[in-house]
Amino acid sequence: MERGGAALLHLDVMDGHFVPNLTIGPPVVEAIDRVTGLPLDVHLMIEDPDRYIDRFAQAGADMISVHQEAVPHLHRTVACIKECGAAAGVALNPSTPLSVLHEILPELDFVLLMSVDPGFGGQRFIPAVLPKVVALRRAIEEGGHAARIEVDGGVGPGNIEALLQAGAEIFVAGSAVFDGGDPRRRVQGLTALLERARRR
Ligand code: ZN
Repeated sequence: MERGGAALLHLDVMDGHFVPNLTIGPPVVEAIDRVTGLPLDVHLMIEDPDRYIDRFAQAGADMISVHQEAVPHLHRTVACIKECGAAAGVALNPSTPLSVLHEILPELDFVLLMSVDPGFGGQRFIPAVLPKVVALRRAIEEGGHAARIEVDGGVGPGNIEALLQAGAEIFVAGSAVFDGGDPRRRVQGLTALLERARRR
């Protein structure tokens, strides 16, 4: 990923409760942190993430996002992420409206818009997320907020340019990088598409 020019590593943490799948915990994040200089972006798809935020921060997370759908007291959770020294993000499932972010948006370093239902890799991008990115970009600019927009799920060569034009800044590619072929070249290919779209 580093040699391909990735800007960060996005690590999906799943608990088998909030989402059906199970993935990694703090020890693996720590092990990854030891072997890379890239920022680690830890996406917590877990119930009760408040219990684990400090452990993931200690393990080396530079960015931490929690799901709005999993957290009853977002201001407290976001403050906790920042106190731990990480950039704070809130993730929304595809069917969760942007309106739930209205009060918290000024506090956020980034917003993670899921473009598939979280849980398993290889799902198809949900196109309704494109206008959602446009609407969020408008809300951020109109409010003078600093939040960056990250898109996660089914992102690849077929939609990455449209997502950039819609206002996304961080692109999480899973299957588009790891589904065969040389991951370094896949990252280079996606990066080249973004550079070309930015020049237009
Ligand atoms: Zn993710």
